Amino acid sequence: MHNHCVDLLVIGAGASGSCIAYEAAKRGLKVALLDAGDIGCGTSCRSTKLLHGGVRYLELAFKTLDLAQLRLVREALYERGHWLEEVPFLAHPMELILPSKNCISQYYYRLGLGMYDTLAGQKNIGHSRILSRQQIKQNLPLLSDEIANGVAYSDGQFDDSRLNLLLALSAEKSGAELYTRYRVVGLEKNRNGEICGAISQNEAGEQERWTTKVIVNATGIHVDTIRRLADENIDSRILVSRGVHIVLEEVLCPKGVGLLLPATDDGRVLFLLPFFGRTQVGTTDSPCEINDANTPSSKEEEYLIDYVKRWFPSLQKPNIKSSWAGGRPLLKPSGSSRHTSQVVREHEIETLPCGLISAMGGKWTTCRQIAFDALKAIEKVLDKHLPEPRYAPIIGSHKDKSKTSESLSNQRKILTSSLPASTLQNNQILHLQSNYGLQAPSIIAKSSQKQREPLSDVIPICEAEIEHAIKNEHAKTSTDILARRCRLAMVDLSEAQRILPIVQKHFHDFGLDISDLDLQQ
Ligand SMILES: Cc1cc2nc3c(=O)[nH]c(=O)nc-3n(C[C@H](O)[C@H](O)[C@H](O)COP(=O)(O)OP(=O)(O)OC[C@H]3O[C@@H](n4cnc5c(N)ncnc54)[C@H](O)[C@@H]3O)c2cc1C
Repeated sequence: MHNHCVDLLVIGAGASGSCIAYEAAKRGLKVALLDAGDIGCGTSCRSTKLLHGGVRYLELAFKTLDLAQLRLVREALYERGHWLEEVPFLAHPMELILPSKNCISQYYYRLGLGMYDTLAGQKNIGHSRILSRQQIKQNLPLLSDEIANGVAYSDGQFDDSRLNLLLALSAEKSGAELYTRYRVVGLEKNRNGEICGAISQNEAGEQERWTTKVIVNATGIHVDTIRRLADENIDSRILVSRGVHIVLEEVLCPKGVGLLLPATDDGRVLFLLPFFGRTQVGTTDSPCEINDANTPSSKEEEYLIDYVKRWFPSLQKPNIKSSWAGGRPLLKPSGSSRHTSQVVREHEIETLPCGLISAMGGKWTTCRQIAFDALKAIEKVLDKHLPEPRYAPIIGSHKDKSKTSESLSNQRKILTSSLPASTLQNNQILHLQSNYGLQAPSIIAKSSQKQREPLSDVIPICEAEIEHAIKNEHAKTSTDILARRCRLAMVDLSEAQRILPIVQKHFHDFGLDISDLDLQQ
């Protein structure tokens, strides 16, 4: 059996694991990052794609006088600001409207959202403001006439799977080894009962050994499975709740302003957000088994459609272009039976007596805080302080992050002269820059004009990107490319099916297996 020797093995290349690997590699550890599937194929590519403090959690904090909730909101607002500065090419501030049915609720929302702005401190990205019904209708023309007025506030919107990929690739650039389709199937302990290694299995069934000083389990909703490899009698710590999103062909947010529906019948909130020229609606919150977490049910899709029809009465037959589901890894509240929508999305880093570290719970926005807390646990297991991190900006951004946005606009000229003239050229420049940041010109530099031609007018991906994804971004299946390297399958499944044969041909040319599209993978 092949044996690898590393300082740190991170299991799971979602947002948490990739960020942990990136931060650890920058501190000089020899890191291996393994994922059973593709980079970010778990919950991290299936989120609502908001960088947010969580307006709902702020309300919950006040209603329950819960300081832990309030701290979580403040921490997440800081992180929202961090990502918007760090990767401005794939994350941007977005205004959202919270409609109200009378002036009392409008002032209540205004007060709460004013607090939201204040909590963000220096990282505040906009000032919430009162809107009249007419102002709301200018932004959301098809919204029901039943609303009286509302409040606008700001949060961040980002491309979750591209950021996940860039975190993993940046970890690799900092020296981490990155292996996808490597499932950890066993853990090894020394004579003292301390964790000292793991066994992985690839898709061909071949096993490899990972001898290591420390292991971090960042497997999201699968965290208990790995914990049980260390101790089969251990109690589970994670609740799984499925969140479904649908994408509608109809453009309900034509001005780029999103909508937060404040109160569903089951006491939650729903978002309708602009999404690659279409409308993303979500999400649901249904406790489920792990194996069902990525499978949207028609009942949940109908639930979302029902709210679309209620709030947009002129739209009685919305056209669903894609739908996807993901499992929330919620930290189990000790001994209580609270509904999953009320469980605090706070993370916990657990270290078992055998030394296995598990990152549990949390949210996308705060994955860096999860990584910092995991590093503290790693230092304890290694019994040494790690050095200060090397400066290694995320791939795609400028080495001086304050210059990324300016450099992107300077770069437009190069892209304009390199891309084929077409009505899609402007969209293609935006697409290339938001996927690759400042690396965009190098992605197409060695390709022919034909390979630069956009393949779809929904998302103008071109063949040069397909090749780049296979050669340099660890893409191994058509779904890796069409759902995660670019988001076409998650925006418009039938359009992704249309260009699938072109993607399959590239896999064939590289001598790799061809596969069908499967949004549950
Ligand atoms: C519907 C929904 C909407 C959300 N929206 C937002 C939002 O808008 N903003 C926000 O901040 N947060 C949001 N979240 C929360 C956020 O998406 C998650 O907290 C985050 O993505 C979890 O990342 P993770 O790395 O812990 O888990 P995952 O992304 O699930 O990664 C775990 C990885 O471990 C791998 N793995 C599992 N078992 C093994 C094994 N044995 N060996 C090797 N690898 C293994 C999996 O393949 C997977 O890639 C949302 C969550 C859901 C469900």
